[in-house]
Amino acid sequence: MTENIYDVTVIGGGPAGLFSAFYAGLREMKTKIIDGQDKLGGKVHLYPQKMIWDIGGTEPLPAGQLIEKSIAQGLTFDPEVVLNTIVTNIQKENDEYFTIGTSKGVKHYSRSVIITIGGGGMIKPVKLNIENAHLFENKNLHYAVPDIKRFTDKKILITGGSYSAVDWANDLSPIAREIHIIYRGDDLTAHEADVTRLERNGVKVMTQSEVTGVSGGELMEYVEITNNQTGDITNDAYDELIVNHGYDQENLLFRENNLGLDLENDFFVKAAPTGMTNVPGIFAAGDCIRYTGKVNLIAGAYADAVNAVNNAKTYLDPKADQFAMVSSHNQRLKDKNKKLMY
Ligand SMILES: Cc1cc2nc3c(=O)[nH]c(=O)nc-3n(C[C@H](O)[C@H](O)[C@H](O)COP(=O)(O)OP(=O)(O)OC[C@H]3O[C@@H](n4cnc5c(N)ncnc54)[C@H](O)[C@@H]3O)c2cc1C
Repeated sequence: MTENIYDVTVIGGGPAGLFSAFYAGLREMKTKIIDGQDKLGGKVHLYPQKMIWDIGGTEPLPAGQLIEKSIAQGLTFDPEVVLNTIVTNIQKENDEYFTIGTSKGVKHYSRSVIITIGGGGMIKPVKLNIENAHLFENKNLHYAVPDIKRFTDKKILITGGSYSAVDWANDLSPIAREIHIIYRGDDLTAHEADVTRLERNGVKVMTQSEVTGVSGGELMEYVEITNNQTGDITNDAYDELIVNHGYDQENLLFRENNLGLDLENDFFVKAAPTGMTNVPGIFAAGDCIRYTGKVNLIAGAYADAVNAVNNAKTYLDPKADQFAMVSSHNQRLKDKNKKLMY
C-alpha cells in the first residue's frame, strides 16, 4: 500500500499541472499527474496554431510547440502519468493521505493534492447539432484550427461570432482564397477593431444566419445556411468549415466537493496567492483559482504552480525550505546539467 501513496497528486495536466509536476520533482516529491483527456497539455490544445507571445523568456512560438516543451519539462523527474481519467472526488479517510476517486473507479492515494483543473474543469467544444456533421469531423470540419497551411487557397466558412471566430477569419485571410463568417445573432461580439479589420481583409459577414446542414462524399462539400429572419436557405460549396461555438464545461470534482472546498460559482477554488485552500493539504494553481490579482494566463499558471508546490512541500515536511533553490544550486538539476553540458 505505502508504495501507492504519492507525496503529491496533481489533478489536471495543463500548463499549471505540468509546471507543478516539474517543480514537485525538483523538490524531490513523489508525484503523480491525473488528467481526464487522452493527452497532456490542457486547454492549449484548443489553439495549437496560435502564436504565443506572452509567456516570458522565449521568442513567440506556436502553442503546439509550447505544449511539446511543457510536456517535456513536466516529465523531467518522471512523474507517474494517468490519462483518460476524470477525478470525481477527494476524500480524507485517515490522517495520513487523501483518497482520490475517479471516473474509472480506480482510487489513488496522496499525502497532498494540487488541483489544476483549469477554469471550467473538463471542457469540450460545442459541436454542430446537425445530421452528418460527425462524418466530416477531423477531415474538413474543424472545432480547432489544426494546421494553418491546409487553409491555403481554400474557400472557408467560419461559424461563430466571438473573439476566436473573428481572430481566425482575420488571421487566415492572407492565405485563404475566400473567407465567410456566419453568426446567428445581429452583431459579431468580438472586439470592435477586429470586426472592422474583417472588412479590410475582405471577409464576407453573414449575420442572423446559421449552418443547418452539411453534405458531401468523403469530404464535406456543401454547407446549408438558413437565414433566421427570412427563412431563406442556401446551399453553397466550401472547402473547409471551422466551428467556433464555445465550450461545454463539466466539473464533477467541484460538484461533489466532499471536502467542503471554498468555491466561487461552483467552478473556481478560492485560494490564497500561496495556492493554499481552506482544506489543509489541498492546494490549487492555474485558471481554476480565484484570488485578488490572479493572472489568467499561462505565465500566471506557472507562478501559481511554484507557490502551490512550495506550500505542499512544507505541509508534508514543515522543516523543509519554503522555496526551492535556484536551478543552478539545485542538486537534482546539477546532476542533469552534467549530462546536458558534457
Ligand atoms: C482560445 C484561447 C487562447 C489563449 N491564448 C493565450 C495566450 O496567448 N497566452 C496565454 O498566456 N494564455 C492564453 N490562454 C489562456 C491559457 O490557455 C490558460 O490560462 C491556461 O491554459 C491555464 O492553464 P491551467 O493548467 O490552469 O488549465 P487548463 O489548460 O485548462 O488545463 C486543465 C486540465 O485539467 C484537466 N481536468 C479538468 N477537470 C479534470 C478532472 N476533474 N479530472 C482530471 N483532469 C481534469 C483538463 O482535461 C485539462 O487538461 C488562452 C486561452 C484560450 C481558450
